[in-house]
Amino acid sequence: MLRPRVIAVDGPAGSGKSTVGAAVAAVLDYLFFDTGVMYRAVTWAALERGIAPSDEAAIGALANRLVIDVLPPVSPGQGANRVIADGQDVSEAIRREDVDRNVSVVSAYAAVRTAMSARQRWLGARYGSGQAEKPGIVMVGRDIGTVIMPDAPVKIYLDASAQERAQRRYDELRRKGKDVPFEQVWADLLHRDELDSGRALSPLRVAGDAVVLDTSGLGVDDVVAAVLRVVMERAGVATDGRGDGKIPDVEVF
Ligand code: C5P
Repeated sequence: MLRPRVIAVDGPAGSGKSTVGAAVAAVLDYLFFDTGVMYRAVTWAALERGIAPSDEAAIGALANRLVIDVLPPVSPGQGANRVIADGQDVSEAIRREDVDRNVSVVSAYAAVRTAMSARQRWLGARYGSGQAEKPGIVMVGRDIGTVIMPDAPVKIYLDASAQERAQRRYDELRRKGKDVPFEQVWADLLHRDELDSGRALSPLRVAGDAVVLDTSGLGVDDVVAAVLRVVMERAGVATDGRGDGKIPDVEVF
């Protein structure tokens, strides 16, 4: 029985990628790697250093020299990687609103994408070939199934209505004690969607061989179960009630 080592999860902001990806990784004991944090770290570093997000050359140079360490979530299943940039823990800072507003401009630059994708491909290849301490990787982003790991054996594209995605983001901000008007959250999200889908390099797209899951109206557990069903089907495990429904331990592909 074969078990897919690389699970690519893409989708727009607020589609639940990180929460679902981290939960799936915890169930499978895979590494959870949210690639968005790398683009956020570059954006954070530019803002800290007073580099204008429109200064492509300076941001490209920064992306090439910035040392970014992406660490597993504090507890497995908790949906956020910890991030160290140039030795500083920026896990919280990269979620700031000014980072949110500028990250899609920064992530569209060729030099930034080249610097970040090299690292992502390296990690994907290492976990995909079984040479890492975990049996596989759940990699989350916008271009994982299309550009970074086009041969990933499992590709999931998570989506949800813009209204619901904005509501999730709004609820998350409220939980953090931030009082941003809903209309503003919605407008920012649509703007980010537009930039991420409309850029020339690695735009957000559904990979031809991805399984599209619309998470509108679904709880996290339902989506996690749906993703695990796709993984099990790829592993050749019956998901129709026959067999014990457990994901087998035997691996490779
Ligand atoms: O997923 P998250 O919303 O944290 O990503 C932040 C931003 O990083 C996205 O809006 C997008 O501009 C960029 N990104 C990207 N490619 C990825 C992951 C994220 O361009 N693989």
